[in-house]
Order: sequence, then structure tokens, then C-alpha cells
Amino acid sequence: MTRSIAGSESLFERSKKVSPGGVHSPVRAFRGVGGTPRFIREAKGAELIDVDGNRYIDFCMSWGPLILGHQDPDVADAVRAALTRGWSYGAAEPYSLELAELLVSEIPCLEKIRFVSSGTEAVMSALRVARGATGRPKILKFDGCFHGHADSMLVRAGSGLAEMPSPDSAGVTDSVARDTIVIPLDDDAALEEAFALHGSALACAIVEPLPANNGLLPQREDWLKKLESLCRKHGALLFFDEVISGFRAGFQGMAGRTGIKPDLVTYGKVIGGGFPVGAYGGRAELMDLVAPQGPVYQAGTLSANPVSIAAGLATLKKLRSSDAYRKLETLGSQLDAGIERIAQALPEASITLQREGSIFWIVSGARERPDPVVRAPSKIPAPHKERFARVFHALLEEGFYLAPSAFEVGFLSTAHTEAHLSSFLESFEKALGKSR
Ligand SMILES: *Cc1c(COP(=O)(O)O)cnc(C)c1O
Repeated sequence: MTRSIAGSESLFERSKKVSPGGVHSPVRAFRGVGGTPRFIREAKGAELIDVDGNRYIDFCMSWGPLILGHQDPDVADAVRAALTRGWSYGAAEPYSLELAELLVSEIPCLEKIRFVSSGTEAVMSALRVARGATGRPKILKFDGCFHGHADSMLVRAGSGLAEMPSPDSAGVTDSVARDTIVIPLDDDAALEEAFALHGSALACAIVEPLPANNGLLPQREDWLKKLESLCRKHGALLFFDEVISGFRAGFQGMAGRTGIKPDLVTYGKVIGGGFPVGAYGGRAELMDLVAPQGPVYQAGTLSANPVSIAAGLATLKKLRSSDAYRKLETLGSQLDAGIERIAQALPEASITLQREGSIFWIVSGARERPDPVVRAPSKIPAPHKERFARVFHALLEEGFYLAPSAFEVGFLSTAHTEAHLSSFLESFEKALGKSR
């Protein structure tokens, strides 16, 4: 049986006339997998319902924020209560104070924090702090990490380390690109060379400590520690972009998981519980450089919006006080075991699951020995992309919504159940069998 998507098709045609690609963020357009993006009418728990009434178990979860699922009742109550008191004051208020105090008391690397409205804005602001604090121009970043769409982060590596980096988007100037050094992940030699060449000009090194925007690419802890020690040695700040890993790799994120104390850290996604919130923070003396306390300017009309903050606060309080992480880990182990079983049943597909907590990525195609973990984009097996598109559509037809790209991760939420995962695994095996 093929599901009708006539409603989505007609809305997409209309939407293409009034918005670029018919969408308001590129991957939503399904370009990576082909076909018509589903227009979603509503969502509840682990389920999305499109405008044609088709239901999908959602493993995209709004790209990560919805760790408690859609319309969690406690978050919904907090949002409704906040709304009855008004939805924007543009003035000091107690709501963001409560969230700031919670975070500063729970996360060791966080001495002060400032709320903004997106991860992009958080990264952009923290980079300005790094440059303001050090008086240095250059930023070190890693190929395969994504940090939002600030100009200086839309830069790709030159052909060799000594080569000029180049813009990765039209509209980014060479002069901006020149100040962003891009090197591979999981490469000790490149790290040492980059610091040897540019160390004294580096304001900071920015890294997703658990890269999750180009597949899930877990890094070796000794590589992260090497990055930390090179930063210290050369006087560059260490900047963890925890917009995805924050509150997913445990409440304290990867900083807590590894015991590494970054100077600057950014949050987004889960921190707003599905509403627009971003945050940057870190050492107090760095954050005190921010206006009005210090000379680094940053402001926002809707920063610390009370409704968004209420959603974030309710989400984080529930995460901390419930057995949410244990539940997510149980679901994750079920996924591990299921994928392992399928991998053995269908050895030709050579699939593996890379998973950290509630973030997962299923890779297909042979991997390199002796380290079969994919840790850098260059190590992603070639057949992965094309196979993903076929499996994606087969799963969509069966009622499972994965992020529409081979290089996006999946997210579990506490609204998922063992039954959801069992039926997903069953459909996945079927889809994989057919796609060969
Ligand atoms: C999503 C993401 C961003 C950008 O956040 P937006 O809220 O989409 O602007 C930045 N960094 C990382 C690591 C992200 O995953």
C-alpha cells in the first residue's frame, strides 16, 4: 500500500513559489534523499502526523531538542503557565535567572551564562568573546563539525594545511575565510602542525566534542585531551560547541563526560525544549567581557524569551530529576542489540550503529580496520549515502521518520518505547533486505 501524500505535494508546490526551495532550513527539502518533504500537521509523543493524516514514529525529534518527545505534558504546562503572564518583557525577569542558576550550579565549566535565541547566535557571540579576550584573529575548526551559519564557520579547508582556507558558502568573503583554519578530526599530526603554524594567532579552537552533524563521529578522548593541551600551551581558548551534545551526552554534556574543562561552551537544541533558545558561557572572567560588563558587544530583542525559557527549564528539570537518562540508555541498548542482530543476518549490508546516549547513526558499507569506528568524514564508506536514500524511503512508507539525510543523526526521546523500537528494527531489516 502506498500512502497518499497529495496534501504535502500540493503545499510543497505552493511553498516553492514563496520560499527558497520551499523550506525555511535546507535539509527539510529532502534534497539528500529525493522525493517530497512531508508537511507536518501535528505531533505528539514519539509521533508525527502529516497533512494527509499519515503517522510516523519520529527519530528526528526536531533535530534533537525534543528529548522528552512532542508535547511533553510537564513542558506543556510550564509553557501555558508562562503564557498567562505575558510572552515577552524586554526587561530583566526572574525566569532566566532560575535557568542560569540551575546550569551554573550543575555544570562545572560554566561560571556565567548568557541566553540568546539560537545555536548559531551563541557560537557567533562566543567566538567574539574569544577574539576579544585574546586579541587574536584566527579560529581553529574541524572538518566535519558544524557550528551554525555564522560567516566564519562556513569555511572549508584549503588543499593543504599551509593553503588558504576557502569560503564554503557564497556570500562569505575570502578575508573572513582566511581567519578560520580547518583541519581534519581524529588526526594528531594535523593538530600539531596547525598549532605549530598558527598557534600564536589562534583565539580559540572550536570543536563539537561529540561531532553529530556529519554522521555521528565519536572522537578519541586522548585526541580531545591533546587538543586541550595544545590550546593551553599556545594560549588559545578551548571552545566546546555542545549545541547537540549538551544534555544528550548526560546532563553535563561532553565536558562532564570527559572531565575536560573548556573555556567557552555553547548550548542550543535541548536547552530550549523545542523553543528557540541558545546560550553561551564559560569562565567568569571571559563572560565578564560581554556588554554591559565589558567591551564585547552582544544583545538580543527576544533573548531569554520567558516562554522559551519556561520550556527549557521544565525540560531540564525533568531530565535531571527523573530517570530519563536511564530510560534513554535502555532504549539505546535495545537499538544496539537489534542492529547487531540485523548486521549478522545481512552481512553483505555491513551496517553498524554508532551511538552515544540518545544520539545514533546507522552506517552502511565496509569500514577500515583496525579502528572500525568512523571518526572523520573521509572515513564514511562510499555506499552509505545512496543506500541511505533507499532505506529512508522504505522506512517512511512503513511509518518511520528519520532525518532526511545520510549525514544526519537520529534522536531517541523518553516518549519512545520498546515497542516503537522493535517495530522500527523489523521494518529496518526489511528495508535493508530490499535495498540491496
Ligand atoms: C544545531 C547546531 C548549531 C546551530 O544551532 P541553530 O539553533 O540551528 O542555529 C550549532 N552548533 C551545533 C553543534 C549544532 O548542532
